[in-house]
Amino acid sequence: MQSKKELISYWVKHEIIKDQKVIEAFKKVPREEFISKQFLSQAYGDYPLPIGLGQTISQPTTVMIMTEALEVKEGHKVLEIGTGSGYQAAILSYLIGKKGMVYTTEIIEELARFAESNLKKLNIENVKVIYSDGSSGYKKAAPYDRIIVTAGAPKIPEELLKQLKPNGIMIVPIGDLLSQRMLKIIKKKKLEIKDLGNFTFVPLKGQYGHQSDGDSKSPIK
Ligand code: SAH
Repeated sequence: MQSKKELISYWVKHEIIKDQKVIEAFKKVPREEFISKQFLSQAYGDYPLPIGLGQTISQPTTVMIMTEALEVKEGHKVLEIGTGSGYQAAILSYLIGKKGMVYTTEIIEELARFAESNLKKLNIENVKVIYSDGSSGYKKAAPYDRIIVTAGAPKIPEELLKQLKPNGIMIVPIGDLLSQRMLKIIKKKKLEIKDLGNFTFVPLKGQYGHQSDGDSKSPIK
C-alpha cells in the first residue's frame, strides 16, 4: 500500500474507518511533511517510520483508528502525550477547527522542535507543542475534552484521568514494552472501558511511564 487513495479504499472496504470527517482529515493533512527526507517515497506505506532518536511516526491505520475512537468535535480542547513528528496533532487540529486547541507534550526536546517546525510549515496555529514529561499531563490547560496517549503506558495514568472532563474520552495503549491493548476510556461515574485490540507503540517514559526502557543498554528500543 503506497498511496493515500489505496489506504482510504482499504479502510472503507474493510470498515476500519467509517467517519467521513476522519477520512477528510487524512486527505487534507500531508503526511509527507512530517517524515524525514530519506523516507519520503514511503510516506503512505502502512507502517511506522523512524523519526530519529529511537522514535517513530505511527502507521497511518493506527493514527486513524485512534482518531476515530477519540470522537473529536469542533471546538474541543485535546491533550496529546507523545508529539513525535506532530502528525497526529495536525490531524486533530483539522478536526477541532479554529475554536479548538491541541496541547501536545513531547519528552525529547529535539522532537518537540521537529514537530513545531513541521506544524509551522503548514501554518497550523491551534496546536501548542510543550516540551515536558506528559505522563503527568499538562495541568495548566486542564481539564480536557479528550486525551490521546501515543506511547505505550504500563497502566492507566491516574493523573491523566484527573485532567479529563466528566464524560470525556481518553485513548491509551496499555501493556508491557512489547505489546499493548488500545483502550478507549469514557469518564463516567464508573469508568467505561472498551478494548480496541492489540497494538505496538514505543514506550511511554517519565514519571508514570515505563521505568526501564530507553537507555542504550536496554535490548528493547
Ligand atoms: N504521535 C506521534 C508519534 C508518537 S511516538 C506522531 O504523530 O508522530 C511516541 C512519542 O512519545 C515519542 O516521540 C516519545 O519521545 C514520546 N514520549 C514518550 N514518553 C513521553 C512522555 N512521558 N511525555 C511526552 N512524550 C513522551
